[in-house]
Amino acid sequence: MMWPFLVTLWWTVAIASPHITTRAIPAPVADTTVVVLLGTGTPVPDPRAAGPSTAVVIGKRLFIVDAGSGVERQLSAAGLSNTDIEAVFITHLHSDHVLGYSDLIFTSWVFGRNRPLRVYGPPGLRRMTDHLIAAFAEDIDIRTNGFEHAVPNGYRVRAREVKSGVIYDSAGVRVTAIPVPHGNWRYAYAYRFDTPSRSVVISGDTRESETLVRAAAGVDVLVHEVVALSALDQPPGAFGGNIVRYMASFHTPDRKLGELAARAKPKLLVLSHIVPTGVADSVLIAGIRSGGYSGKLAVGHDLDRY
Ligand SMILES: [Zn+2]
Ligand SMILES: [Zn+2]
Repeated sequence: MMWPFLVTLWWTVAIASPHITTRAIPAPVADTTVVVLLGTGTPVPDPRAAGPSTAVVIGKRLFIVDAGSGVERQLSAAGLSNTDIEAVFITHLHSDHVLGYSDLIFTSWVFGRNRPLRVYGPPGLRRMTDHLIAAFAEDIDIRTNGFEHAVPNGYRVRAREVKSGVIYDSAGVRVTAIPVPHGNWRYAYAYRFDTPSRSVVISGDTRESETLVRAAAGVDVLVHEVVALSALDQPPGAFGGNIVRYMASFHTPDRKLGELAARAKPKLLVLSHIVPTGVADSVLIAGIRSGGYSGKLAVGHDLDRY
């Protein structure tokens, strides 16, 4: 009897591995805007939360913010193309936000990309891009000149270093870079998307920011990072021995985010880049509510769509 075994196996896989469940996106409508959380994680290699990455899908047009570890697999799980990305926006160059960058560059090439990938991000992006392409010189040589016959130069990237203001404006989609404070980083950005149907702000990594309150005022969706301070443990020897001070300089505590959202009044607040790993949704929600935000709130999980 094979059936009981197969059914048991299916349930085991489905329950044990929710993060690899494929959630196909319905046929796109030209002016709909959907936010897809590709990765809600942090540097912690948690199989339930891929590295930071968010897709903004407008009809058939695909934009990606950040390229954390696992981004290619998450695009596949979300039913999104990896060869037809209109543009990528990098919030800052912390490794957790770009560990999947080479994956975006090279996997899309292997699967047929033949135009330069358009990438926008802070100063340093171009140098990182050049170094990544140089690091893969052997691969580029074999794929181009060996039996694979990959599209010559299909791996190319057009990396643009940006500072602030409107950095992308094409066919009804406008993207604005908003400088945010993120510890010692000189350049870190949130990005605001204005599309034919919605406005979306993705905070990137930031401590609470007045600029962000203004930029996100009344938006349809605010995707914001968060730290549940009450759930933090001090790892021995890390963060100069004071994790709370580190988090307050680099990131946004839950209560502070609640205060910020109460003023910005987004139509929906979505939590992503959630610290610490595995914290209960109820703890996050209580933290946000304690800051005074009473609007719609979602704790983001990988592959959720809004
Ligand atoms: Zn981060
Ligand atoms: Zn960071």
